[in-house]
Amino acid sequence: MEFNLMDTGKATDDNSEKHVSVLIIGSGPAGLSAALYTARADLNPVVLTGMELGGQVSLTYAVENYPGFPDGVGGNELVEKFQKQAERFGAQVEFDTATEVDLSQRPFLVKTYNSNYLADSLIITTGATPLHLNVPGEQELTGRGVSYCATCDGWFFKDKDVAVVGGGDSALEEAIFLTRYAKSVTIIHRRDELRAGAILQNRALENPKISFAWNTVVSEIIGEDALKTIRLQDKISGEEREHPTDGLFIFIGHRPNSQIFSGQLEIDKQGYIIVDNMMRTSVPGVYAAGEVADPHFRQVITSAGMGAAAAMQAIHYLEEDSPSSIQQSLVAEAKP
Ligand code: NAP
Repeated sequence: MEFNLMDTGKATDDNSEKHVSVLIIGSGPAGLSAALYTARADLNPVVLTGMELGGQVSLTYAVENYPGFPDGVGGNELVEKFQKQAERFGAQVEFDTATEVDLSQRPFLVKTYNSNYLADSLIITTGATPLHLNVPGEQELTGRGVSYCATCDGWFFKDKDVAVVGGGDSALEEAIFLTRYAKSVTIIHRRDELRAGAILQNRALENPKISFAWNTVVSEIIGEDALKTIRLQDKISGEEREHPTDGLFIFIGHRPNSQIFSGQLEIDKQGYIIVDNMMRTSVPGVYAAGEVADPHFRQVITSAGMGAAAAMQAIHYLEEDSPSSIQQSLVAEAKP
């Protein structure tokens, strides 16, 4: 098996630029699966973790729908296993974040907080970030009662009253998790029908600590040093009321982390990087996988599957399709 540019695929330092065969931006299930596959092809991939090793799944208390774990597995534990398995075959996980890319040049240039990378192929697995309500008080009281992570902050609300916004899987899963600590959990949903799957709906509806505020939105978050109360609006009557609460957990969906690729890759209106069924982006040699490129499924297993597929395509690209490989074969053909 022959790969372009560097026979070993190992990172090399050249004028403070590290040259790698495969650079993976993001360390969630998609990134670490791509790392496993490219590492097993002896490409010594480098994974840039981003701000959160493991991405969103590392903030999840329990994952119950990843095959192979009949009793469920902690999000952190699953990430550790992914990382260990990829590293076993030579993947290098760097605690660093990409800040700027230039996809017009070959190799691709990726600037990070600590280094500049030149990458023969790029796999983008930057995931997604929780959406905000964008109501008065939200920004000021984040970390002072307002949270986007029950696994991180739930412990602070022992025997307290908390509220959760959203009607999807995340909102219900996290609300159920919060009942371990909180005295009461009120789920505030803007409709009278939940979006979440049936199992989670049943668990939430049957949980004695959980109650629902239907057809209701949060219009203001109020408190000085800490959250005291939230203003709720009934969407049908238009009536407003105050709802005192110690904590407010917001789970209303996510925004794909594709900003640094804007103008360089095709991105849809919602911000998802557009890929074909081979995980190819609009730039040859650049692949995207996981939640940054997936508006539909957004599961650990689908992200991991996309990561593996992107890796297989990157391996194929480095073997066959990359411009330098083509150049090498042209040179070989030209030789007498
Ligand atoms: P989601 O499915 O998009 O649900 C977002 C929820 O927030 C919806 O109920 C939505 O209301 C509500 N919402 C959106 N904007 C709002 C606003 N401005 N104000 C008030 N409410 C608002 O997001 P998610 O729950 O984070 O799930 C994302 C994906 O991950 C889904 O595909 C989900 O299946 C998956 N996931 C799966 C699991 C699991 O299988 N265990 C766990 C977590 C997530 P409407 O319903 O009215 O639109």
